[in-house]
Amino acid sequence: AGTAPTEAELAAGRRAHELDRAHVFHSWSAQDKINPMTVVKAEGTRLWDGEGRRLLDFSSQLVNTNIGHQHPKVVAAIQEQAGKLCTIAPQHANDARSEAARLIAGLTPGDLDHVFFTNGGADAVEHAIRMARLHTGRKKVLSAYRSYHGGTHLAINATGDPRRIPNDYGDSGVVHFFAPFLYRSYFHAATEAEETERALRHLEDVIQLEGAANIAALLLESVPGTAGIMVPPAGYMAGVRELTRKYGIMYIADEVMAGFGRTGKWFAVDHWDVVPDLLAFAKGVNSGYVPLGGVAISGAVFDTFRERAYPGGLTYSGHPLACAAAVATINAMADEGMIENAADLGERVVRPALEDFAARHPSVGEVRGVGMFWAIELVKDRGTREPLAPYGSSSQAMDAVVAFCKENGLLPFANFNRLHVVPALNISEEDLREGLAILDRALDVADGFVDAP
Ligand code: PMP
Repeated sequence: AGTAPTEAELAAGRRAHELDRAHVFHSWSAQDKINPMTVVKAEGTRLWDGEGRRLLDFSSQLVNTNIGHQHPKVVAAIQEQAGKLCTIAPQHANDARSEAARLIAGLTPGDLDHVFFTNGGADAVEHAIRMARLHTGRKKVLSAYRSYHGGTHLAINATGDPRRIPNDYGDSGVVHFFAPFLYRSYFHAATEAEETERALRHLEDVIQLEGAANIAALLLESVPGTAGIMVPPAGYMAGVRELTRKYGIMYIADEVMAGFGRTGKWFAVDHWDVVPDLLAFAKGVNSGYVPLGGVAISGAVFDTFRERAYPGGLTYSGHPLACAAAVATINAMADEGMIENAADLGERVVRPALEDFAARHPSVGEVRGVGMFWAIELVKDRGTREPLAPYGSSSQAMDAVVAFCKENGLLPFANFNRLHVVPALNISEEDLREGLAILDRALDVADGFVDAP
């Protein structure tokens, strides 16, 4: 699908690259060590780079373009809204925000019936924490080590992965704990049941040793994403809900990456019928076409702020263009059966393909996932499970794997020692199989870095 960029589009791309190098300060990167790929055009699950090469997008960018690029219904909705009302202060009601809130309240579980809109995921997490602190009158926040919660001050401190470390001054009130990860079990568990039981016992110990009366919230990605797509073992999520209820701790589900269909259900908590007190979302809510995030809030938390003001807000809270895009995205997902497609292709195509990779490639330590949310964990040695790249850094091996993918028409999502398979939820079976075939050959490159095949 789609036509190659024109010579004029390619020339604009070359100019964009030149100006990027001259004036753009990039996030998370040493400025002199990067050479950003220019994207000149995108459509559905394809995009074109500065050389006019067509790439199949297996990354959904930062796992946000859940409906692919340039979905015509969403583009039209943004254009229509732009012609009507581009922006309005958040204290005024507007139809785009009201309808987005109605749809989201209807989709989120339980009594999460009010929505506070933000500009993205990090500020959604921050506002959720602030609401929990004000609601409980407590300060501490528990968060998992293998997690990512955003790049702003409190959100990066809540993050468990090594990106926190240079930003951590030790005064954030966040305490980290170990969530389940059977392949690299901190609890020396051999089975899922043992992992669940020991991870919950560890969490209860942390609560008691930190003092329940000091803990406002437990913040948890329902399926940790950037940190490795560790689908929680049976019983864990229900156990977390039970412990937080027992100790009066607000349970904040971070569904910024896992929400809006990524796992094959509207929200990942729906897999375990768990209802958090607050649910943070962003990314997939409108596929990132216009920045948007938010927090869905339970009746009890909402009640706290009925008579007493919530001391927080944002100029662009519920931005009309972003909310119009959300309404169109949510409707397109439902009308076009995208979530069903993700659930079906995930089980029928991705799972068997990845299990086959694990059987044939010595570099594959483990494969895991759900819906359109999968990880291939690469190791140097399957016996010791030593990662192919150290946690928290890049490596020659991973760079070679990524380069091979790009040279062969695939834009992968790579993080530390993992390749994530996270294409758009509405990807076709044909495109999905094409991308998996390229990944299969890329794993031959990874196999070349294995210590003990
Ligand atoms: N939480 C999770 C689980 C995420 O994956 C991300 C982004 N990758 C964030 C929060 C932060 O979102 P944003 O970058 O939109 O601020």
